[in-house]
Amino acid sequence: MDSKTAKPQNIELSMPVQYLKGVGPAKAKLFAELEVHTVEDLLEYYPRDWIFAPKTTKIDQIKPGVEVTVQGLVESTDCIEYRRPAMFEVYLSDDTDVVRVIWFGGQYLKNQIEPGQMLIASGKVTVYKHQRQLTNPKFKIIEQPEAGPEEAKEYFSGGVYPARKNLSSGQIKKIIRPVVEQTQSLVDDFFPPDYLKKRNLIPRGSAFQWIHQPKNEDQLRLAKRRLKYDELSLMQLGLAARRYSVRSRGAPPMSRDEKIDTRIRKRFPFLLTEDQSSVIDEITADMSGDVPMNRLLQGDVGSGKTVVALYAALLAVAHKYQVAIMAPTEVLAEQHFISIERYLRKSKVSRTLITGGLTGLKRKALLTEIKQGRIDIVVGTVALLQKDIEFNRLGLVIIDEQHKFGVEQRGRLRKDTQPHVLVMTATPIPRTLAMTAFGDLDVSIIRHSPPGRGTVVTRWVDKKDRTKAYEFIRQRLKAKKQAFFVYPRVIADDNGQVRAATDECKLLSKEIYPEFNVALLHGKMTSEQKKTVMDDFRRGKTDLLVSTVVIEVGVDVPNATIMVIEGADRFGLAQLHQLRGRIGRGQSKSYCLLFCDNQSEVAANRLQVMERTNDGFEIAEYDLRLRGPGEMFSTRQHGLPDLKIANIIDDFELLNMARKDAFQIINADPALRQTQHQNLRRALIKKFGKNIGLVDIG
Ligand code: ADP
Ligand code: MG
Repeated sequence: MDSKTAKPQNIELSMPVQYLKGVGPAKAKLFAELEVHTVEDLLEYYPRDWIFAPKTTKIDQIKPGVEVTVQGLVESTDCIEYRRPAMFEVYLSDDTDVVRVIWFGGQYLKNQIEPGQMLIASGKVTVYKHQRQLTNPKFKIIEQPEAGPEEAKEYFSGGVYPARKNLSSGQIKKIIRPVVEQTQSLVDDFFPPDYLKKRNLIPRGSAFQWIHQPKNEDQLRLAKRRLKYDELSLMQLGLAARRYSVRSRGAPPMSRDEKIDTRIRKRFPFLLTEDQSSVIDEITADMSGDVPMNRLLQGDVGSGKTVVALYAALLAVAHKYQVAIMAPTEVLAEQHFISIERYLRKSKVSRTLITGGLTGLKRKALLTEIKQGRIDIVVGTVALLQKDIEFNRLGLVIIDEQHKFGVEQRGRLRKDTQPHVLVMTATPIPRTLAMTAFGDLDVSIIRHSPPGRGTVVTRWVDKKDRTKAYEFIRQRLKAKKQAFFVYPRVIADDNGQVRAATDECKLLSKEIYPEFNVALLHGKMTSEQKKTVMDDFRRGKTDLLVSTVVIEVGVDVPNATIMVIEGADRFGLAQLHQLRGRIGRGQSKSYCLLFCDNQSEVAANRLQVMERTNDGFEIAEYDLRLRGPGEMFSTRQHGLPDLKIANIIDDFELLNMARKDAFQIINADPALRQTQHQNLRRALIKKFGKNIGLVDIG
């Protein structure tokens, strides 16, 4: 099948690949497994690697040990079959010299290579009996000597595609070739020429052609750059549109004056830190406007976010608005409520905690009060607050996501109300993620925690030092300090490889620390049970709390100065950091002991990062590099398109540019109604579906 002589097929982007030459139903099925359904998908099925036609070397210039490509005339051939393995030998000449070329086990070549042919061969130069020779080179017989080098180049260069059984890279290359040849007419550009020129971007059609069939590294680089830009642009346009649609609805302005400010600050038994104050300035600036605040507040555990959130809440209450504070779990909701109570003692502000345990008439009565606007601050879990609660004048929603990137929840919340929204997260989010997963939010950061926190020393403990560590902990427990023991699992898995909380709790209480009170806490317990266990620990009735990661969610026990994390290699760094934030809350020095029997280099590297630094941002960046964004948060789950070619870490500069451009475009043309934006609009709707806010406006 020669694509040059056959009539070109009429191809359209939306055409199923099945109808392409050389595909058919069986191959189409294989393509479907690669998520390639249409011609457009195929165009976006980028090679995973590229090979470039090597420059040919004159035979008299080739040197032993070097990879070369030579082109020459086959002077003679010989098949030496008595040897084991058999050997096929060719003498190849050009206008400078002759070289011996051999293939071991090459007897099959005797039907292919004949004297008089033009041959191009590529491989390593070796020496045999003082003679240079090429051994087992890759080769190509040039069928049309007049096309010569070009034909050979095509063979030796091009994309290498991620393949499947029964669908090789070479087959994909062949199938895609006629499509690529038509890209110029198939692919519409998103942007006008002057826009592209200003940004040094090549046309989209050329980019597709060159990504699949680059003639050289330069073309490939330019193609990648353009396609990455497009991919990042679409993502950023989606975010910009979402943000625009939120901002296009009005919100109640809640201005701050000195009187209110003083009154609120009086609630706190300490001066707010500089970071807290400046973050509060950013938040109140948003809230005083009639555009809904849409802000992310980042700060390590213990950096004082709750205080900032409460400030915002009290500002809303001062303007007679209601506030909803949502936490990811009941334990955390309760924790918030307790700290709020601490600050609001003797205040007129009415507040309530809604828990799952609250049912029947009591619940009904409470909901009525909320509906009538008689309760100012409602604290609960995301689930509870989403269900059936009606507010009278909801002015501010505070979402504490802890380490979860629950962008979806924010989306759902927006239905009919237009409150200001403040999202808090204790996970330091690397800049790249802030620009993608949270790209529709403004960001405020608390970098420095309030003074008075004790230092946390982190040590990686391996198998042989376990007993020593247990003794070290015993001394601390004797001094009336408390300890957390955190496990990756509640119960052991089948092969019993991982230590689990339930088993270890028995071991710790019966054998290791029989003289102390040991309690167990895990996610499968009812909220009543959890509450009892937590209360006991908080009050110091329990010395040692064995748990799974449930304690990750906001436990504030300053007397707990020891944390053992068992199977530490099974946790992400961000999560380890998060867990570690539970200690060091009081004045005294705290110890985080990472128990890990895994001696691998990766495990060691990661745990050493934990030993080295307490800076959450540093850890997050490291984690992101190590595990990639996909591990840290699921892009799909957050309505962001998967990235096929761009990488938010490596392509940060491009991401920056695309982001700026995208927000400018949406500001100028929010619904992308202008003629020059039609292709962009179509692509955007295709990527995100109809619910990104674009169509709402138009
Ligand atoms: P986060 O919510 O970020 O984990 P919190 O708001 O719960 O942090 O604050 C952590 C601890 O620091 C709390 O015990 C709180 O009382 C205390 N704290 C907060 N702000 C200050 C401050 N400006 N000065 C002193 N202590 C503070
Ligand atoms: Mg907190």
